[in-house]
Amino acid sequence: MRPVKTRRRCATTDVEAAITLAVLVALLIGLAAGKAWERYKLQDGKWIDRRRARESPHYMLGLNFLVANQIDRAIEELSRAADVAGEPLEIRLILGNLYREKGQVGRAIQEHQALLQRPSLRKLEHANVLLCLGLDYKHAGFVDRALEAFTEVLRLDSENEYALANLEKLYEEQHQWGEAYATRQKLAARGNAASQPHHQEILAFLDNEVGTEALKRMDYAEAARRFRAATELDPGNAPAYLNLGDVQFLQGDVAAACSSWEQLVETSPERAYLAFQRLEAAYAKEGATTRFPDLCRRLIAANPQDWRARLALGRHLTVRQRAEDALEPLFDALANNPHALTVHQAIWQALSTLNFPRLLVDRYIDLTRNAVFYLDPHICTRCRYRSTELLWQCPHCHDWNTFVEERMAPAKDSEATLSN
Ligand SMILES: [Zn+2]
Repeated sequence: MRPVKTRRRCATTDVEAAITLAVLVALLIGLAAGKAWERYKLQDGKWIDRRRARESPHYMLGLNFLVANQIDRAIEELSRAADVAGEPLEIRLILGNLYREKGQVGRAIQEHQALLQRPSLRKLEHANVLLCLGLDYKHAGFVDRALEAFTEVLRLDSENEYALANLEKLYEEQHQWGEAYATRQKLAARGNAASQPHHQEILAFLDNEVGTEALKRMDYAEAARRFRAATELDPGNAPAYLNLGDVQFLQGDVAAACSSWEQLVETSPERAYLAFQRLEAAYAKEGATTRFPDLCRRLIAANPQDWRARLALGRHLTVRQRAEDALEPLFDALANNPHALTVHQAIWQALSTLNFPRLLVDRYIDLTRNAVFYLDPHICTRCRYRSTELLWQCPHCHDWNTFVEERMAPAKDSEATLSN
């Protein structure tokens, strides 16, 4: 039982830095590979030789420092290169971005705003400057100005996916789910066939959020429509099944609610436990007494490591005066996840019901002797953010559906695990 494979992924900050770096380097290389007819450019009334910037040693040094992630020295050299070449727009643009990376957002904004004042900016240049300015505003927390800037970029350059992606994240942060949905749709329309499943996965989560808003204002029809749309876009979207079932239950259709929750069990058995309480109560309401334990047993047979189905079965049996039968699945659950406090509680509950028979208590003590306890078992596979509960969107890197439950290593090699 080794921990999840994803342990070694980089932290978000590294990923973001790498992306920023890649964008900057691409910009610089694009500049270096500029077409011959673009070599000379009229800027502020004088002809600028773009090649002079590239031939300057400061330019190459700046590029090298940038690749080595030495931002301060890159700024120094690129400033000199810009000076030699008559302050070309591209280098000033990048310098502004570097100030932002350093955390000097005010200076980045000044730099980029000054570029907007330049006369005779071409349309794409204008869009590029606005994009950088939008990133400055976003970084500084000026949400409205950032939204305005990205929207304006798209007016100038409707294919700008970078602006679309940033716009979507801003809408998500503001909980403007409808706008986020429309923006993701535009991104999906520009994506190739291979990227469609990923777009659909995100659209499904956004649909689910729109539905949740509708549910809050008790618009059941709209809520159900959006939840259903989410499951159609991505049959693996767990929260939409839960929510769809909740709406149907609220509307009094217990059978339909059960069927929606069962669909979750079927499509994502590893998330089936999210529907356990709902299903257990709904089956009881329908008088189907064996349906819940049967469901648990099916899940256990399909996945021998499923400790949650065992826990649910054990609790179910304990409450129904069958504590003796409950202990077997509960001890198995403990063997699979000795760190779950809820399993221990369920065992004590069952033992208490049986008046603490010595043999069973001893067995429990044997099973738990070597367990090490951890907090926050849910971990984001993208940025390693930890959480006590399962989250659908990571509060740290804002990616969707990235949480997995970290499998615990047995106590004997926990030290090796921790030092990974
Ligand atoms: Zn994350």
